[in-house]
Amino acid sequence: MIRFDQPAYPTAYFSDLVYAICPQCRHVAKVETTIHNQAKAILSKRQSVLSCKYCGLVQVNNQKWYGTYQGFVNTPCGNCGSRVLFTSKPLKKTSPLLTISCEVCKKEKAYQPQWFRYKNDHSKEPYYGLDVFLQIGVKNHTLWLYNLKHLQYLKDYIVASLREDDGRHKYSMITNLPQWVKSAKNRDLILKKLHRLEQTYHAIPNK
Ligand SMILES: [Zn+2]
Ligand SMILES: [Zn+2]
Repeated sequence: MIRFDQPAYPTAYFSDLVYAICPQCRHVAKVETTIHNQAKAILSKRQSVLSCKYCGLVQVNNQKWYGTYQGFVNTPCGNCGSRVLFTSKPLKKTSPLLTISCEVCKKEKAYQPQWFRYKNDHSKEPYYGLDVFLQIGVKNHTLWLYNLKHLQYLKDYIVASLREDDGRHKYSMITNLPQWVKSAKNRDLILKKLHRLEQTYHAIPNK
């Protein structure tokens, strides 16, 4: 019996290195993040560098965002004064105004939204909003991983027949895996897909 007895890392533990698709040349780029203050390993205290060996692209400090945005409006209706609360779907581009109709009087008007970087899309890395490179379809789902260490960790978990899940680590990466990944009936398929992802990565020349 193979026992999975590794520490219960949170997903963010693996995010210090992310293989991502370069927005300029579509090769594999790296997003490397240094945590300056281990005690306060919060996102804003991190410095992330995006670099691509193939086209020479370098971006620092998360200034540029390649992902999508969500607009948020919280303002009185210009017609009847009721509160207009609206959160847009993730959008490719921001715009100065969003046209929204009031729930109460149904009047359509353009309002100035606040824009936020949309980070809930898990097959994208959280610093620049790029697609992660290590992703593969499994039935109608997507399996994604930040790097090879992350991949190996998941592989060790999937291989193990004895999985300790005693609820101590409520917010760990493993606990938060979707059921289709944990399901024993998908074990062989997922191992095969993980193996293929690994092969794909190793086959890339001049990394
Ligand atoms: Zn590139
Ligand atoms: Zn209104």
